[in-house]
Amino acid sequence: MNELRREPLLGRWVAVLRESMRPEEYRFAVETRATGRCDLCEEEHGEEVFTSRDDSGRWLVKVVSSRDPIFSTEGDLARKGVGMYDRMNTFGANEIVIESPDHDHQAEEMGPAQMLRVLDAFINRTVELEKDARIRYIFINKNYGILSGDPYGHPHSLITAVPVIPKRVKDELDGARLYYDYKERCIFCDIMREEERMQDRVVMDSPCFLVFCPYATRFPFEFWILPKQHRCSFREIGDEERRDLSKVLTVMLRKLRRLLNDPPYSYVIHTAPSRIPRRNQWHTLSEDFHWHIEVMPRIRRLSGFELGSGMYTLSTSPEDAAKYLKEVSHGD
Ligand SMILES: [Zn+2]
Ligand SMILES: [Zn+2]
Ligand SMILES: [Zn+2]
Repeated sequence: MNELRREPLLGRWVAVLRESMRPEEYRFAVETRATGRCDLCEEEHGEEVFTSRDDSGRWLVKVVSSRDPIFSTEGDLARKGVGMYDRMNTFGANEIVIESPDHDHQAEEMGPAQMLRVLDAFINRTVELEKDARIRYIFINKNYGILSGDPYGHPHSLITAVPVIPKRVKDELDGARLYYDYKERCIFCDIMREEERMQDRVVMDSPCFLVFCPYATRFPFEFWILPKQHRCSFREIGDEERRDLSKVLTVMLRKLRRLLNDPPYSYVIHTAPSRIPRRNQWHTLSEDFHWHIEVMPRIRRLSGFELGSGMYTLSTSPEDAAKYLKEVSHGD
């Protein structure tokens, strides 16, 4: 029999198929990278807001604002009701982290030192953007490959500052708070303890992070990177953790590429919202939420049933996915 599993944070049901598909059985579009003119190479972008340079002054990582931002700091929130509906201005920011001057050189290929510069750029911009009390959430994500929605084909990631807490994040925050109210423990710390005990879904165990394929995910070969030290906010990451994370991300993204033959993927950083506006209302946030990274290979389209029902089918079990990911070499 196949197995129906309940994901504990969001309460999502996932059908895990008994016969796992092997990595080579997944067929996604061969065309992984956008071709033609690249806006990032041509410097067709907005203002430069952060730059990391080498000793000779050459830039290695830079953050620029988008040329056609959806969210911008012009004007104000102008929050109001229109009949039964709510509206406000798209106040916020759209920034692009250009992870390399070289169009074809992905950050993970360049190694942990470059990945560390990318992480530093994330943190620097988060701290800066959070200063505006109207910003409720800073969302950091990366898309790789056309199927993931990457329009450039140039190594980059995105920082989006928004005046609301996005629904998916809100669901996680609510799930974590509910668990904490009931058990007085962080659900992520509990999940990590469970995974460490079971071991069959663990892919990598570094000094500061645990990488595992969660019990009931939406996408085959999805894995999460959880900091062992409990912190609600990504921007509070310590120096040692930062260095370790740059290694872990490098290794894991290389493994993913080798295992699934250069698949499109997205990763997101889930962190606590900016607490400036409601500092006193959410007093357990720092105990109940635990920042983390979710890496989702985009190797399968969702079916209508999955989109409409929120119930998913997992064609490779997390246990098998973890085994494959663990076994595949990441090169040097
Ligand atoms: Zn380019
Ligand atoms: Zn925790
Ligand atoms: Zn999450």
